[in-house]
Amino acid sequence: MTQQHSTADGSRVAVITGGTRGIGRATVQRLARDGFDVAFCYQSNEEAALTLSKEVAELGVRVLARQADVTDRGAVRAFVEEVEEQLGPVGLAVTSAGITRDNPLLMMTDEEWHEVLDTNLDGVYHLCRSVVFSMMKHRAGVIVNISSVAGVYGQATQTNYSASKAGIIGFSRALAKEVARYGIRVNVVAPGFIETDMTSSLNEAARAKALASVPLGRLGRAEEVADLVSYLASDRAGYVTGAVMQIDGGITI
Ligand code: NDP
Repeated sequence: MTQQHSTADGSRVAVITGGTRGIGRATVQRLARDGFDVAFCYQSNEEAALTLSKEVAELGVRVLARQADVTDRGAVRAFVEEVEEQLGPVGLAVTSAGITRDNPLLMMTDEEWHEVLDTNLDGVYHLCRSVVFSMMKHRAGVIVNISSVAGVYGQATQTNYSASKAGIIGFSRALAKEVARYGIRVNVVAPGFIETDMTSSLNEAARAKALASVPLGRLGRAEEVADLVSYLASDRAGYVTGAVMQIDGGITI
């Protein structure tokens, strides 16, 4: 069933970070099917960006893909400016770019700590900071930030990742309160184990342990997370803001 989407003043322009792979890629595909013009950035995977752009353009929507490192505020701002020039005001922003650098705290290097915080948390700040003024001017907009169940419950060997993902939740709730009066909704999606490149690096033992902890007995699919983003972007979620929606096969029950 087609969902109704009316974001920033009727804008149907969506910006997604980390669009080349995994959840970001599935979100680009889903939003394009929902009729959004889609702009996405990535770190280095130009080939994946080209393939996805071609695929999405065939759906009849406009698409813009750019290399832009989310740790670099200037690069994200320049990316959003180009999107606004070429496609129009951004009505929907989705932050999916994220990394892990797991290690027990005792072994963690400063580099591992900062790399994860810079990408996962500063990246969210950089995109939201770049789109929010235009959304406020249009008195409408939707922001969906991808966190993780690790940000809600914590995960051993992931103090850096869990801190970054918990930070996204605090950030998003604060922003939701700040901008609600401008008609902007801000929500968080917190996935459990989803089948992507990020989880394919798990060794067999870790994978078996993860599976055993999921009541639904399987890993999630990126498309299932994208469906939730699509719902949050739609008018059907018009009364939902400041929410943290877990999509985890019941792992946290
Ligand atoms: P993937 O590893 O499959 O893809 C990561 C994406 O982020 C790629 O498009 C990558 O670009 C991009 N990216 C990474 N660093 C940067 C950067 N500095 N600047 C711009 N783009 C960057 O990740 P997933 O799809 O698995 O994860 C997506 C989000 O969901 C992340 O925030 C993750 O923390 C979260 N999440 C994932 C879970 C899972 O089980 N998979 C569970 C819970 C949360 P490129 O292709 O160029 O490298």
